[in-house]
Amino acid sequence: MAAKIQTSFCLPTFSIPTSKPKPYLKSFTIKASKSISGRKLRAAVIGGGPAGSSAAEALASGGVETFLFERNPPSVAKPCGGAIPLCMLEEFDIPNHLIDRHVTHMRIFSPSNIAVDFGKTLKPHEFIAMLRREVLDSFLRSRAHAAGATAISGLVTALDLPASPDAPYTVHYTANGSSRRSLAVDVVIGADGANSRVAKAIGAGDYACAIAFQERIKLPDEKMAYYENLAEMYVGDDVSPDFYAWVFPKCDHVAVGTGTVRSKKDIKLYQRGIRERVKPKINGGKVIKVEAHPIPEHPRPVRVRGRVALVGDAAGYVTKCSGEGIYFAAKSGRVCGNGVVRASEGGDRMIDECDLRREYLKPWDAEYANTFRFLDLLQRVFYGSNACREALVELCGDEYVQRMTFESYLYKKLARGRVLDHAKLFMNTLGSLVRSKVVQTSMESFIL
Ligand SMILES: Cc1cc2nc3c(=O)[nH]c(=O)nc-3n(C[C@H](O)[C@H](O)[C@H](O)COP(=O)(O)OP(=O)(O)OC[C@H]3O[C@@H](n4cnc5c(N)ncnc54)[C@H](O)[C@@H]3O)c2cc1C
Repeated sequence: MAAKIQTSFCLPTFSIPTSKPKPYLKSFTIKASKSISGRKLRAAVIGGGPAGSSAAEALASGGVETFLFERNPPSVAKPCGGAIPLCMLEEFDIPNHLIDRHVTHMRIFSPSNIAVDFGKTLKPHEFIAMLRREVLDSFLRSRAHAAGATAISGLVTALDLPASPDAPYTVHYTANGSSRRSLAVDVVIGADGANSRVAKAIGAGDYACAIAFQERIKLPDEKMAYYENLAEMYVGDDVSPDFYAWVFPKCDHVAVGTGTVRSKKDIKLYQRGIRERVKPKINGGKVIKVEAHPIPEHPRPVRVRGRVALVGDAAGYVTKCSGEGIYFAAKSGRVCGNGVVRASEGGDRMIDECDLRREYLKPWDAEYANTFRFLDLLQRVFYGSNACREALVELCGDEYVQRMTFESYLYKKLARGRVLDHAKLFMNTLGSLVRSKVVQTSMESFIL
């Protein structure tokens, strides 16, 4: 399909994204006309991460005229650990050659450095895939382009909301670092990450953010061999007051990082903490990249408004406890893109807010809201103090816990177990928590 890009040079003063939605948007959702004559529905996808590329691929394949905006060249990587679950490889046809490491061993270290191996229940074909984001994102972006989405290299600077129910949205952007342009579209997908401009433009409200910090460290070969197929997680007040720190293996280096929501100004202190804990294993390594980025803590108050939908980090789809967002970004982009295709009957009809709610938000929440709630609860219970973290690591030694955790992570379904096993797990959890508190209390009195 030959894409027509309607561009114009803007006035020097850009419209600043409004923080409050315009009052007409409410009636606009009810009265939007359904017919489009002589053309296809036009969608702008802002952001070419996993969320945006997957949305653009679904839209373009389904017959919608699609424009995918990305400000960065392919070589620039989104700061990320790059761990993805098995189900994503299958669902998104990610080829094996993009994977740096097939992780089959996980080791979790308690605050007192007790190590528990966490991967004993994995079946021979199961693993956690480790990729570099520059590799994954380039691949997903090219696939969206191959499906027919027009690539626009540029920074989106503002979004003008429509002046009447059937009027277009106007996307303002800077192409090639200099020329200012604009594009009129019917639908906007905000896939522009945690600092989303699209979310601001529609008054979607804020979410709390964690900050994550990561260093990529190139190790000597013999040290890298230790991390061949092993990923490590560390918990403790020294590495994070409310999250975990990690060492993830990549092609020729490891990614060493940590995150926190409670004490962001101390993030470098915690990074020193994780480096101290892994010191013997990374000694002699060379830091090749330092990166940091916010991670949303929960979904935004508003994820759909008018003919605009937010997906991925822009919507706030990162799970607590694990800090996982790549799969949920790609999946939400696809669910949303397919929803627009269905509602517009292959790009032949106008859509409205009700369509987006019915075709995107409803199925999304039905599938994943409980997963997000459950992991939020786990983070509150287990990451709150060193005593609770000791309990967490002790529990991770339990084979039943390992099986349930990996089944839930790898296949993105809350694993169902037997009632008796659940009851046993509940008692074990209580036991671990009680034991750890007792141990901590007696250690504190001993020190005093
Ligand atoms: C340090 C760290 C480690 C992490 N590790 C993991 C992990 O191991 N596994 C996991 O599953 N998740 C991890 N996450 C979370 C994961 O990175 C995100 O959830 C995921 O990237 C969300 O994808 P997205 O497409 O929604 O947004 P992003 O990946 O942030 O993509 C947004 C895209 O939009 C572009 N963009 C933004 N604004 C504009 C604009 N105005 N104009 C044009 N383009 C724009 C950006 O350049 C970017 O390419 C980690 C996060 C951090 C910070």
